[in-house]
Amino acid sequence: MTTLVSLQLLLYALLWLLCSAGLRLGRAAMLHWMGYALASAGSIALIAWRPDGPVWLTHSGSSLAVMLSLVLAGRGVEVFMDLRPSDKPLALMVLVAVLGLAWIGPHQTNARVALMSSLNTLLLLLFLARIRLAFLAEFGLPTTIAAAMPPLALVGLNIYFVSQALTGANFDIAGDSSAAAGAWITTLVAAAAFNYLFLFLVGFRLVGTLRRQARQDKLTGLHNRRAMEDRLQMEWVRAQRYTKPFTVICVDIDHFKLINDQYGHAMGDRALQMVAHALQATARDTDHVSRIGGEEFLVLMPEADARSEGVALAERLRQAVAALQLQASANTTIPLRASFGVAQSHPDDMDQERVLRRADQALYDAKHAGRNCVVLHQDAQRAPATGD
Ligand code: GH3
Ligand code: MG
Ligand code: MG
Repeated sequence: MTTLVSLQLLLYALLWLLCSAGLRLGRAAMLHWMGYALASAGSIALIAWRPDGPVWLTHSGSSLAVMLSLVLAGRGVEVFMDLRPSDKPLALMVLVAVLGLAWIGPHQTNARVALMSSLNTLLLLLFLARIRLAFLAEFGLPTTIAAAMPPLALVGLNIYFVSQALTGANFDIAGDSSAAAGAWITTLVAAAAFNYLFLFLVGFRLVGTLRRQARQDKLTGLHNRRAMEDRLQMEWVRAQRYTKPFTVICVDIDHFKLINDQYGHAMGDRALQMVAHALQATARDTDHVSRIGGEEFLVLMPEADARSEGVALAERLRQAVAALQLQASANTTIPLRASFGVAQSHPDDMDQERVLRRADQALYDAKHAGRNCVVLHQDAQRAPATGD
């Protein structure tokens, strides 16, 4: 049994070592979890060494190794969640454990179990309290509840140990007793639960990152065309159902090709980033700003009237872009300008593409009107105001 549990833990340690070598995401956390598996394996090896090994090591040492494994497991989760690790309370608890173990001595099993199980309970509760909000924010409520189950089960077990230790139960788990078998099975299940939980966290984060990347424009950090199309579809359905129009603004940088041709592609990229940032910073929080093509952007304004709100925002965006100064060299700045086409959704639109086409048409008109201006599509000029 001991060999089986130790082997399982060593395999977990190897798994985390391989994961940390292959994945950049959460590497520090994985090294902590490797430490957790090694400390757990160490504690089991020490217990298995009883009664031949040095009594301080096989009794007090094994208790300390269990605690250390929990410290590493929890600290790993803190690091994974980008929380500042709670090193001071952890160090304090380890200090209390070391002094307590030294004072109690290796032969007072029940006092040792009562002390260490109390400290382990505190440790687990501290971690749960520290990470619950970050978990909720990243993974949502159902996953947070599921993730809390293994540590909560371990809290329950430790409280049970404390109560048993205080009532004088027999804690000799090195022999062949049923208590020993129970303890090993618990260790085996707890180790599996923790390691699967950590694996699950890594997988969940990986999927989230990939999903985000698939919807994000790498150069500017804005939503990409795909994300925009999903959002447009959503707004279109909502507009059809509640007959509340939404507005789209097509943005195209003026004479962008000249920047590329005269100053190079890298300078063109820099211009795209600056314009993207200006659009995002000027739009309202509820607006959806995306890069839909080379130097083309789209601003989607939910529940907004094109004639008043749309044109007003487009004008603010135009001014924000025109105020940008792209530094080409110490004494050369490149002026940036953009043209804007504004259109509003219509209840008769057969699909969501129609409003895009109108905004594009308005943008085309803006280019022909001399660029660096805002043009409202003629349909929106006649359209009723929002909510009518
Ligand atoms: P107009 O005022 O009529 O819009 O003229 P323009 O030069 O802005 O328009 P045009 O469509 O002729 O040029 C767009 C250029 O954008 C051409 C393409 O090489 C460049 N471009 C597309 N994507 C990128 C990119 O990611 N980075 C850079 N640097 N350039 C890009
Ligand atoms: Mg263009
Ligand atoms: Mg252009």
